[in-house]
Amino acid sequence: MGRMRPVVMTVFGTRPELIKLAPVVHAFEPYAPALRAVTVNTGQHRDLLIPFLDSFRVRVDHALDVMTAGQTPNQVCARILDAIDPILAAERPSILLVQGDTTTALAGAIAAFHRGIPVGHVEAGLRSGDRANPFPEEMNRRLISRLASHHFTATERNRATLLAEGIAPESIAVTGNPIVDALHAIGGEEHRPDSPRLRSLLDATRGLGRIVLTTHRRESFGGALEANLRVLRDFIARRADLCLIFPVHPNPEVRKQAAAILAGHPRVHLVEPLDYAAFLGLLARATLIVSDSGGIQEEAPSLGKPVLVLRENTERPESIEAGFAKLSRNDPAELARLLDEACSPGSWAESLRAVGSANPYGPGDAGPRIARAVAEILGVLVNAPPPTADRALRSPPPTAGEG
Ligand code: UDP
Repeated sequence: MGRMRPVVMTVFGTRPELIKLAPVVHAFEPYAPALRAVTVNTGQHRDLLIPFLDSFRVRVDHALDVMTAGQTPNQVCARILDAIDPILAAERPSILLVQGDTTTALAGAIAAFHRGIPVGHVEAGLRSGDRANPFPEEMNRRLISRLASHHFTATERNRATLLAEGIAPESIAVTGNPIVDALHAIGGEEHRPDSPRLRSLLDATRGLGRIVLTTHRRESFGGALEANLRVLRDFIARRADLCLIFPVHPNPEVRKQAAAILAGHPRVHLVEPLDYAAFLGLLARATLIVSDSGGIQEEAPSLGKPVLVLRENTERPESIEAGFAKLSRNDPAELARLLDEACSPGSWAESLRAVGSANPYGPGDAGPRIARAVAEILGVLVNAPPPTADRALRSPPPTAGEG
């Protein structure tokens, strides 16, 4: 019997994990003669994820389908541990890759650890410094760092954070964040408004400055979410030159508050989540982004767009330092002030331009870098092409244009 190819298992279950792991999964293709790349979709998010599997052309080898209505982190974690165990036993991966800070990532890492399978952590070393915020993500990422044997960091700062926690330098590789790869692959050079939904949104808001909102963080439910939405509603009501476009997250709490506070205003558009190409096309035509998303903070430098971050803290200070983000501290009065400031003539938000190779999250070659590092770890480095970021090194896409 011939020697079995080692298996690299990649686990994801939410939209941001798929966006960031798709470039990694594809980067294993040149190594196919030497290793077998296997994917697991836990199904932590269901409807939100499916269109992304298509647009990123990611094949799912094992679908766990753990999502239930009103699920808690404990339920998600328990269901994943239970469902992934027989898959680990059957596939016997040589390494299991998880990304970021979700319950899927934590559960995947625990399950691999229990089976003696080394864990590789993509987007390692982010810290907000507050164990309860964002919840449960900050603790998830700290625990994954303890469980993982290999750490792939987006930035030098993330590497320094891990070193300060006593993680061995030889287990850390600075690779950049594969969200930049994803953005280049899907966004296209011109962010063309091909999607009918994007086209109709752009038509409906022609001539207005567009504020694009996303918010869904668990720790904001209750007071902060409601207060932020009221501030945005009042701001749009006062500013006849601006509109608000909110692709509303399917979480029932977010839906309820969005409907109660924002529905009915002619310059407020509550829409279903958009596929990645359409969403990037919308961001490229935005005046301002307001968001509690981690990924959007990372996309802002590539798009040259200003973001007001609806968070008390951020584990991505690189976006603030590069001049693309400001933190509202989840204080409604501060959000009101930041909105006024950002939407005033001559503001900081107007002067931003897309960064190219100076992107704090890397030039867009993180997928190939991670794949190469994994191949080295497994001792199967074949003649795969070296990582390149040729797309990223071209001039950044224009952000003005149609709409
Ligand atoms: N996104 C998208 N369509 C939408 C809203 C967001 O494609 O309607 C993308 C966005 O560009 C970013 C990611 O989804 O890359 C953010 O996901 P989310 O906010 O769920 O997670 P986080 O970034 O906070 O982990």
